[in-house]
Amino acid sequence: MTTTILHAKLKEHFGFEQFRNNQEDIINTVLSGKDAVAIMPTGGGKSICFQLPALVLTGVTIVVSPLIALMKDQVDSLKSNGIAACFINSTQSAQEQQLYMDALRNGSIKLVYIAPESLSYLEQAFDSLQISLIAIDEAHCISAWGHDFRPAYTNLGYLKKRFPTTSILALTATADKATRSDIVQQLNLNNPKIVVASFDRKNLSLEVRPALDRVKQIIAFIERKPEESGIIYCLSRKTTEELAQKLQQKGIKAKAYHAGLDARLRAQTQDDFINDDCPIVCATIAFGMGIDKSNVRWVIHYNLPKNIEGYYQEIGRAGRDGLPSETLLFESYADVIQLQKFASEGLNSEVQLAKLERMRQYADALSCRRKILLSYFGELVTENCGNCDICKNPPVFFDGTILAQKALSAITRLQQNEPLSMIIDFLRGSKNAAIYEKSYQDLKTYGIGHDTSWYDWNQYLIQLINHGYCEIAFHQNNRILLTPLAQKVLFEGERVMLTAVVKKVPSTIDKTEYAASKTSAKSGLFEVLRKLRYTIAKEEEVPAYIIFSDATLRHMEIIRPMSESEFLTIEGVGKAKLEKYGGEFIDAITEYQKNKPVRAKKEGSTYKETLALLNNNVSVEEIAKQRKLNVSTVMSHIAKLYADDHLTDVSFFVSADEINQIKEAQKVLEVPSGLKPYFDYFEEKMPYSTIRMGIAVIEKEK
Ligand code: ADP
Ligand code: ZN
Repeated sequence: MTTTILHAKLKEHFGFEQFRNNQEDIINTVLSGKDAVAIMPTGGGKSICFQLPALVLTGVTIVVSPLIALMKDQVDSLKSNGIAACFINSTQSAQEQQLYMDALRNGSIKLVYIAPESLSYLEQAFDSLQISLIAIDEAHCISAWGHDFRPAYTNLGYLKKRFPTTSILALTATADKATRSDIVQQLNLNNPKIVVASFDRKNLSLEVRPALDRVKQIIAFIERKPEESGIIYCLSRKTTEELAQKLQQKGIKAKAYHAGLDARLRAQTQDDFINDDCPIVCATIAFGMGIDKSNVRWVIHYNLPKNIEGYYQEIGRAGRDGLPSETLLFESYADVIQLQKFASEGLNSEVQLAKLERMRQYADALSCRRKILLSYFGELVTENCGNCDICKNPPVFFDGTILAQKALSAITRLQQNEPLSMIIDFLRGSKNAAIYEKSYQDLKTYGIGHDTSWYDWNQYLIQLINHGYCEIAFHQNNRILLTPLAQKVLFEGERVMLTAVVKKVPSTIDKTEYAASKTSAKSGLFEVLRKLRYTIAKEEEVPAYIIFSDATLRHMEIIRPMSESEFLTIEGVGKAKLEKYGGEFIDAITEYQKNKPVRAKKEGSTYKETLALLNNNVSVEEIAKQRKLNVSTVMSHIAKLYADDHLTDVSFFVSADEINQIKEAQKVLEVPSGLKPYFDYFEEKMPYSTIRMGIAVIEKEK
């Protein structure tokens, strides 16, 4: 099939202009009759790889999928694009099943979803159906090596024997090699083409913070974006409930979800989340698989995950639509201790402990986090990502020898008998009962670290542990022990380099960002479109994101289509959606333009072009290349787009810290005209583009 025809189909049925990486390759492989294994990250765009071929091929495409909820979602989403599809499972009546079976036979439905347990329902029809393609979704479920092993998957090997000439496409987001070869073997795939997409999800920002005052930090985080949808993953069921309650007390719409809750309540919570009625869910990892909601804007890990695979899958649930989305992980030593205990008591403990250790190293990283993640999945990247906390605030090293000496000698004085918190209290000369009970106030070195805050000591001690000067005795009440390396610092004059603590406590974080988002969050066309989408979704009883994704609404907000032909140029608008929803959305946009004469002024198309690319997740460098512009010109577009409310978030380009620095500069420079004075003030260390963006944010705050 020629590229042009495939592209035309992609636009007609799904409304997309371009394939994402590897989609076309996979589609061509299965269309040529070969088997394939597609390994793509969550949100990478696997569905189209079998949905598009299903439309092109003459016969029926069977999609094996593990979860009934997910099938329904996919079928709804296909229907909204005008594509006939069905699923067959044990909850349906024989009559309903017969109806679908007939539709498959007479060719009016070409795509059928089925759970592996239910394949026998199709058996009776196999002889009378032409099966053109078999897609096995979540194919890692076949492997006991994977993390979601499902025994029913192991029977799927018979499909190849039953249909030796039909292409089988196995899809998964689990990249590890053992699982991959298990999939190929157990499905009896015939010399399959293995396509591994990049696991990089550039639109997800990565951040790790120490777990102090978590609840406060989370509230501050949510208050910056009260309308947005997010998931907070917690380790225990109890935490999910407690946290949800605390958030509710602050007037935040949040619910708890875990496997111990009543099934009906769980289903209700999931529905409310999917339908945008309850934007926030505090959940154990039981939540999320089988949810395709594309407009999850952020994911927080309240506790450290067990391993990087799980972590990546969970944060992958944010930003499936490709729009910028935030992820935040809280790291605490208490979690590490607890997880170590679980891992060492569980099956396969050595492997589990090693995986946990990698997770911990990620959280403690001092270099670009995305590089670490991607290298875990076997991808080597040379460039720093610019969208993780380390890239945004690179660690500053200083000579911390004296601090180290103080801490290590305190541990010695306390006979290596005390946990972290007591050591800090001792260093700070705290006058609490625990200290007095043991008469620690009488020991030498009590209080020698009084001029360093509790928060900072906590960070420094963790760094000392990470450097190997001391360690936690997990099985002995977590007391801190010295290692032989400590002797070198205490007695042989070894110097210790520490990294300065970056303050990210709620009082100081992102105030500017908060203010900026508050002013732009609720106003604007996007909100109008979102409300319309919500209303239609309620009428049709489907999730809002199935009507249109956030990315599509954003694109409408920029292009402001007021005719059918303009509407069809929007990303995510195909023929069916134009016919179904075009009228209402065009009316809403026209109405909005009439009532907001200020906004009706058309932006120069050059800004629009930049914005359209940005919304397609194209990097600034790439935009500059494609549009043959300077990077600085593109950055000036972004500043303008932000100033004019077309972009609501530029934190990717300028950090809260930089904004504060610029404000400081403004005081000194008395708000000069032009950017050069700032550039000089910062000794040429802050790029013009950052300064420009910072000023745009400050202006808007006013
Ligand atoms: P996965 O199954 O890999 O997790 P999905 O198939 O659910 O991912 O796709 C994730 C999101 O990406 C969906 O919202 C989908 O509409 C969108 N998407 C897929 N392919 C494209 C494309 N070529 N262009 C734009 N958006 C796409
Ligand atoms: Zn980075």
